[in-house]
Amino acid sequence: MNTNTPLPAHTWPTLEPGWVWLCGAGPGDPGLLTLHAVNALRQADVVIYDALVQEQILSWAPQAEHVYAGKRGGKPSAKQRDISLRLVDLAREGKRVLRLKGGDPFVFGRGGEEAQTLVQHGVPIRIIPGISAGIGGLAYAGIPVTHRDVNQSVTFVTGHDQSGNTPSSLDWTSISKGSQVLVIYMGMKHIAQISQRLLDAGRSIHEPVAVVTTATTDKQQVLETTLGTIVQDIARAKLEPPAIICVGQSVLMRQVLDWQGMAAGVAPRDLDPLGRGRPAESA
Ligand code: SAH
Repeated sequence: MNTNTPLPAHTWPTLEPGWVWLCGAGPGDPGLLTLHAVNALRQADVVIYDALVQEQILSWAPQAEHVYAGKRGGKPSAKQRDISLRLVDLAREGKRVLRLKGGDPFVFGRGGEEAQTLVQHGVPIRIIPGISAGIGGLAYAGIPVTHRDVNQSVTFVTGHDQSGNTPSSLDWTSISKGSQVLVIYMGMKHIAQISQRLLDAGRSIHEPVAVVTTATTDKQQVLETTLGTIVQDIARAKLEPPAIICVGQSVLMRQVLDWQGMAAGVAPRDLDPLGRGRPAESA
């Protein structure tokens, strides 16, 4: 997008000096930014961004200083407290600060912690939600995160806690029994333990699982596997994080909804993968 292209007519908020806007950048594809995010990019003096934010998105804020504050990619990682206090300092210097985070800032993104620190220091904030990878990333893979024939609830769960360990505090038996569809963020490192716990809790080795890496970018990869074979299949496909792991029957819907495959000329594998035997729209 040309950075001079006007936004659609609307009363857009002004990013005032001394304010910090915490903004979701979506899962990757720049087209998944919100208009509020674009409005913010155009006004910022400084953009503090995470590893999962695409370069092209930053190019939409050419006037701003770009500061990397991510935690991966081989670059030195910034401590969470340092990032939060840096935001406070920049605001106090009178900068218009845009804190840009992958996906949605309040979904496994520590946005709440950063926002809290800012408020505690008297810095005014605005929150701009984004499309979370666990919803938008799956949609790009042709997997509906809820589907009437499959699930009435969905559980978003993180695969590791602050210490980097499998969250032992999580009750995997309840999680497993409580929801037909599980969407696991940050699950790659501990996938062996996680899948074993789900099997121990009674989920089937045949349960469909999808692993979607770098979702919505041009490097997106999708692995369809099962709970019983996921560990070997991830290793065989040499998949790397970031990845969203979806466990549940909704993964089968990809057989009819892989819209990127269809756009590339691949026929749907099965028009009725859940075997309902009726047109989908009938009651
Ligand atoms: N706030 C983000 C999540 C941050 S936690 C959001 O709402 O999406 C980081 C984890 O998010 C990654 O380990 C991965 O599990 C997931 N993730 C983020 N972007 C992703 C992408 N493009 N493809 C796959 N997984 C992604």
